[in-house]
Amino acid sequence: MIDKPVIAPEFLSRNKHSLASAGQFIDSSDNFTDENGLLKGSISYIRYNKDWHWNIGGSINLTKMNQYFLNRKIELENENEETLFKLILLGGILTLLLTVTSVIFSQNTAKRFHRYESRILNNMDKLKKNKAQLKFLANHDPLTKLPNRRALEVSIDNDIMTCAQAKSSMAVMFFDLDDFKKVNDHFGHATGDELLSVIGRKFSALLSDDDKVFRFGGDEFIFCFPSLTSVEQAQEKVSAIQDVFSQQIQVFKNSLHIQGSIGIAMYPDDAATASELIRKADLVLYKSKLKKKGSFLFYDQGLHSELERSLTIESHLRLAIENKELSMVYQPQICANSQQIMGVEALIRWHSESLGFVPPDEFIGIAENVGLIDQIGQFVIEQSCKDIANYNRGSLTPITLSINVSPAQLVKGNFVDRVCDVTRRCGLDNAYVTIEITENVLISEIETSKSSIELLRQCGFDVSLDDFGTGYSSLSYLSQLPINEIKIDRSFITEFLSSDQSLSLVRSIILIAESCHMSVVAEGVETQEQYEKLRELGCDIIQGYYFSKPLKISELFNQFTPEQDTGKISVFHRPRG
Ligand code: C2E
Ligand code: CA
Ligand code: CA
Repeated sequence: MIDKPVIAPEFLSRNKHSLASAGQFIDSSDNFTDENGLLKGSISYIRYNKDWHWNIGGSINLTKMNQYFLNRKIELENENEETLFKLILLGGILTLLLTVTSVIFSQNTAKRFHRYESRILNNMDKLKKNKAQLKFLANHDPLTKLPNRRALEVSIDNDIMTCAQAKSSMAVMFFDLDDFKKVNDHFGHATGDELLSVIGRKFSALLSDDDKVFRFGGDEFIFCFPSLTSVEQAQEKVSAIQDVFSQQIQVFKNSLHIQGSIGIAMYPDDAATASELIRKADLVLYKSKLKKKGSFLFYDQGLHSELERSLTIESHLRLAIENKELSMVYQPQICANSQQIMGVEALIRWHSESLGFVPPDEFIGIAENVGLIDQIGQFVIEQSCKDIANYNRGSLTPITLSINVSPAQLVKGNFVDRVCDVTRRCGLDNAYVTIEITENVLISEIETSKSSIELLRQCGFDVSLDDFGTGYSSLSYLSQLPINEIKIDRSFITEFLSSDQSLSLVRSIILIAESCHMSVVAEGVETQEQYEKLRELGCDIIQGYYFSKPLKISELFNQFTPEQDTGKISVFHRPRG
């Protein structure tokens, strides 16, 4: 018995075409499904196949098939579930891996970023520090740590504005150490540098409120004191600066006695801009140094013209030697007792083509300051030795020659050799040459001068202490130096007849000289009374207009004609007290 043919609806729909094409369509309108909707019973089928032609399938058990499909479905579902689970697991693992990797990566990146960030911040910090340091260095002096010249003008200009608003005054003080070069030469540059930084610290300690101090360069400092209400206040500031040098300054193992000069310009009286104030303070500093080292000077208009003149002199002086504008005159020195000429003092003269006559008092100081004194001094020695050697040639009573020597010349190592060289070339005996050194010079240059003086004496020269009484020499001090002669300063001679104080000073000087076996010269003797009193007091030699003004060499020959003798020349010496 053949079961009712049934075809699964899916099968029908899928194979409708092939069944139809086979022309063997078995209708499925009968109910082939069970109550669960599953195919039931068995089916057979006829199917055309191109290769096999008609093929017939029969007794296919639908229930089994259903069961098979069901099982297969369950299997597939299980497989799907498993695959899905695996996929989910794999996805999970992958996600986890990805997450972990990305976390690690991002942590790493973050760490690197932080590292970079901190490096950048560090670099930025360094950059900022470097920038600040560069800015500090640009505006400060590395040695003293004080603001430098670059910061100066801006700062003063700002202070000027403040002062203008407050209607107050400001003092700009230009400070310069005296003889700082000697510290470097004697103790070395390390000591010089240390001295500058010690001074820098001492200066800083003086400042209050808005005061400032700058290192202008080298051994120069500039103080700026705004908010002043009077010149007296400026003077107090000057005293405070000078007090820094009232005691020796300890540098390494050395105690240095040093001082400085100060030039002061005031706002608004002297100038209205920073550069003008600095320029004027500098000018008065220069002037103050010329007058006396270690002192101070306030700017004023009179000084201005004087300063302009100094600068003019300086520029013309450079050409004076070349243009043969310098010459020598000789002032006779007369024996107080015999009234005979014993010697002459050589005095320089400068007749400038453009400036006219310029007195030595005016240009010698400038020459010393601008380094021209060596050249000028050499001219003085050469010319005067030549002239006096000529004068003495064939004379029965040869005269002595006194030459003024500046400290800058004296402390030069080869000074004595140079003088010896000149006297030898001129044929002038060293015993006829006296070197005049001013008293103040000896005080400040005692150590260096002492050895030069000793050497001069060893070479047969005499040494005279010029301008005696104007300095601070004590007797004990003088006895340390091998000096032959003292010249009483003209200022005492001018007034010793009218001033008891000057008279007792002149008397004491003559007594001191006598006890030290030195001769005494009184200079600036203009009257007979002065001469007579000096002779009475025991003065040996008189120099002054009373006997003669300084003379040209030709005038000297005429007025004090040397006693010629064809015989032997007797060596003449100045009287010793
Ligand atoms: P000094 O060495 O004290 O020279 C004496 C000065 O007094 C000279 O002035 C002289 O002309 C002047 N004089 C002499 N007798 C009298 C007098 O009776 N009355 C008055 N009123 N004056 C008198 P001078 O020549 O103008 O020299 C001034 C200063 O210049 C000198 O003072 C000296 O310090 C310096 N000087 C002159 N010539 C030289 C030189 O060749 N070398 C150096 N380094 N300095 C020199
Ligand atoms: Ca002199
Ligand atoms: Ca003198």
